[in-house]
Amino acid sequence: MNFIVQSSYLLAAILFILGLKAMSSPRTARKGIMWAGVGMVIATLVTFLHPAVQGFTNYLLIIIGIAVAGGLAWWSGRRVAMTEMPQMVALYNGMGGGAAAAIAGVEMLRALRTMPNDLMAQAQTLATDAGISLAAAEAALRAEGAGNASIAGALGADVAILAILGALIGTVAFSGSLIAWAKLDGRMKRNRLVPAQSIANVVIFALAIIFGIMTFYTDSLAVVVIFFALGLLLGVFVAVPIGGADMPVIISLFNALTGLAVAFEGYAIGNPAMIIAGTVVGAAGTLLTQLMAKAMNRSISNVLFAGLGSQTQAASDGPGGEMRDVSAEDAGIMMAYAERVVIVPGYGMAVAQAQHKIWELVELLQDRDVEVKFAIHPVAGRMPGHMNVLLAEAGVPYDMIHDMEDINEEFAMTDVAVVIGANDVVNPAARDDESSPIYGMPILNVDEAENVLVIKRGGGAGFSGVENALFFGENTRMVFGDGQKVANGMVQAVKGL
Ligand code: NAP
Repeated sequence: MNFIVQSSYLLAAILFILGLKAMSSPRTARKGIMWAGVGMVIATLVTFLHPAVQGFTNYLLIIIGIAVAGGLAWWSGRRVAMTEMPQMVALYNGMGGGAAAAIAGVEMLRALRTMPNDLMAQAQTLATDAGISLAAAEAALRAEGAGNASIAGALGADVAILAILGALIGTVAFSGSLIAWAKLDGRMKRNRLVPAQSIANVVIFALAIIFGIMTFYTDSLAVVVIFFALGLLLGVFVAVPIGGADMPVIISLFNALTGLAVAFEGYAIGNPAMIIAGTVVGAAGTLLTQLMAKAMNRSISNVLFAGLGSQTQAASDGPGGEMRDVSAEDAGIMMAYAERVVIVPGYGMAVAQAQHKIWELVELLQDRDVEVKFAIHPVAGRMPGHMNVLLAEAGVPYDMIHDMEDINEEFAMTDVAVVIGANDVVNPAARDDESSPIYGMPILNVDEAENVLVIKRGGGAGFSGVENALFFGENTRMVFGDGQKVANGMVQAVKGL
């Protein structure tokens, strides 16, 4: 039986790795999700055969767990809007961290529960053998150090260390991800919990480490409980000062930490699927965190600690001049008579759900022999791959979608660059204005196109709060309105030609 269980875990781990590999391209991502899902089903179902999980109560608990969690995930997955996806990722990620910490908690509780029994069993044997009272035998054993039971003694030093580390990382990832969810969902605005937040963070971190070490040596439930509470508190204190714009980076970091915690706990309970899957998630999450930070021109430490220092610098004076606008119809006609058009989608396209109308427009333009391409900035939208997913959903072929590095040179040869719901990722201040808070962030050079059309509802700033000089450019025309309505106006105009 053990062979079946262990080989099923291995098979599940292989499916996780293949699934993750397939997820690296939008072309194969759907297949990747399926593979990883099948791996997860195998890993979950094989639990029923695990030698340590026999008995009706355990089976019932597993079934209830699968039914409740699976039901909730199915329900929430079906109704979540594309714009709420980052919150959902934060929530699911938090659950992963929480589950890893819970495994550590259960292992520690199990260790604590067996300790006094061991001592009493030894005392009983000694009392019988030596013909002394049970109390005297217990006292003698304690004097020899047998009473100094510890989690490390019960679990083994290596397992205890990993279980404790996994518990700390898992609890931090759990509570931190819940704060990230609350912030992204607009339920939490505050950036500080106490006046001296940075000192509080250091103190809580130090206490968590001290109680982690104490947990290693303890036989006291109270120490373990305080250790877990400190981990949860640390997650909250770390996440609260982080600004909304940085939240996706932090979620990715928590995701990497969750992977690590799962791998550690996999070692603690001897589960190869958890070790492999956790390591893969940890590595992938770390790489993604670095990529996102690079695309925003931030260091991870800056993302983590910027909110703790003096408040962020004020935005520069902002661009001067005047915005000029055109109607959706005129903009559509301008595109219809162009040779080369590049479309740059951003977060606003997701809000407007304009991707289908945009694709309809592109097909009409292609019928008129206009060459159309899509340009995607790595942090356009609110999570990596956000725009790729929307365009894929609308049926845009992958070979029309280009990454920033591949297409940036082409803007200078583009007749019309169409920006729909993007703002920060096309702000020339990031390239030209050293005093700008977003200076250094790589951008799509749309301002180099002969004509620029910017579709958005008003003239306001993007996610970073920095005003956009592009909107005041000589070659820029604003097309004010909801993205979907404007795209529809453009479609009608091109159809009418
Ligand atoms: P953005 O800077 O957030 O700007 C989006 C624009 O869309 C807004 O200026 C808004 O202007 C417009 N908009 C909103 N609803 C609209 C609607 N219904 N129709 C038309 N326009 C609409 O978006 P972005 O250029 O995609 O930049 C992404 C930002 O998120 C960057 O600052 C990036 O650093 C940050 N971020 C992204 C990630 C990631 O992984 N993708 C991670 C972390 C941070 P109006 O209100 O005037 O319409």
